[in-house]
Amino acid sequence: MFEELSEEHAALRATVEEFARKEVAPVIADLYEHGTFPYSLVAKMGAMGLFGLPFPEEYGGMGGDYFALCLALEELARVDSSVAITLEDSVSLGAMPIFRFGTEEQKRRWLPELCTGQRLGAFGLTEPGGGSDAGATRTTARCDGDEWVINGSKAFITNSGTDITSVVTVTAITGVSGGRKEISTIMVPAQHPGFTVSASYSKVGWRCSDTRGLFFDDCRVPLGNLLGERGRGYAQFLSILDEGRIAIAALSVGLAQGCIDECVSYARQRRAFGHAIGSYQAIQFKIADMEARAHAARLTYYHAAARMLRGEPFKKEAAIAKLVSSNAAMDNARDATQVFGGYGFMNEYPVGRFYRDAKVLEIGEGTSEVQRMLIARHLGVG
Ligand SMILES: Cc1cc2nc3c(=O)[nH]c(=O)nc-3n(C[C@H](O)[C@H](O)[C@H](O)COP(=O)(O)OP(=O)(O)OC[C@H]3O[C@@H](n4cnc5c(N)ncnc54)[C@H](O)[C@@H]3O)c2cc1C
Repeated sequence: MFEELSEEHAALRATVEEFARKEVAPVIADLYEHGTFPYSLVAKMGAMGLFGLPFPEEYGGMGGDYFALCLALEELARVDSSVAITLEDSVSLGAMPIFRFGTEEQKRRWLPELCTGQRLGAFGLTEPGGGSDAGATRTTARCDGDEWVINGSKAFITNSGTDITSVVTVTAITGVSGGRKEISTIMVPAQHPGFTVSASYSKVGWRCSDTRGLFFDDCRVPLGNLLGERGRGYAQFLSILDEGRIAIAALSVGLAQGCIDECVSYARQRRAFGHAIGSYQAIQFKIADMEARAHAARLTYYHAAARMLRGEPFKKEAAIAKLVSSNAAMDNARDATQVFGGYGFMNEYPVGRFYRDAKVLEIGEGTSEVQRMLIARHLGVG
């Protein structure tokens, strides 16, 4: 169960760790301060093959697996989460639905450019009226001749409005069947007539990632842009979210680990009352608790990923991994800020950024309450 990383996984982790340390760390504070999308870092990550990690070579991918993506996300988030979520979203929400549910023609059309990272993908599920109740979709797509005509709006969609966004897959009601809404997923190319995006939201955290509202006003796309079977959109995005939760758990573990890295070095050099603060047990225990949380959380995502790769059911394990890991990230960010004292509240050190980035991990790709609902349902409660 990945207790020992394979040679390939270990090499990938080391490569991404070095990239994050040498390329991301020196520039990210300035980008974050100005809320600038990290185009140059994304291009470098693309050149490293990170956007193609879990896809077969025939579609331009690296022929790796989903666990490899998770390891890369953990190492990136150890230094910065905006960069990590840009990768996570394009791969697991942008490209993965096309890989899992697309026709051969759709895969050949979209995946090669997404695998290079020169273009980004996005997934539009959440609407202004609600995200947790994903079945409450109000956006519609009606057939008119050989086209879908899409009307409605989406909220908080990552990667949807960058200069290099290529496609946004959206959920829409395509009819009613047996008295129930028929939800399907449809691909809409960026900048398509009738499709507009809002300005980027001003966010508390993830300030370098691109998050926007989407608007569809009689947006016409070919019927062939339907992704997967008509009416299977709800089931499709639920399965995509199950996988995505393992990736968000990995990202959360990265942030939790980043807090530990920063605290260990600060506790050794910061002095109070004549001694390094790390000599005080109150600080040692805080850091020990942080390490225990990150370690336990890492095992939950390793376990969920192992089940997924073995083809075993992993819905409950993915929900547990997301719940436990986002909790660990939030707790570690709070404690790390405390260890840094006043400097923890300044943008001068990464822990302030970690603190701002941690909260959304308990919200995106299913809130902690939604994870608890999934776990309880799995146990036959509710
Ligand atoms: C930075 C960012 C990026 C995002 N990127 C994307 C993206 O790329 N694509 C996308 O589709 N979405 C995206 N989202 C949306 C995200 O997935 C939703 O915000 C999330 O699913 C919660 O939905 P909501 O915000 O509508 O909250 P709501 O559903 O309105 O929930 C509000 C509160 O009520 C709780 N709640 C709701 N129902 C229940 C219940 N039955 N029992 C108990 N508690 C309940 C929730 O847990 C939450 O605490 C993003 C969000 C953010 C903040």
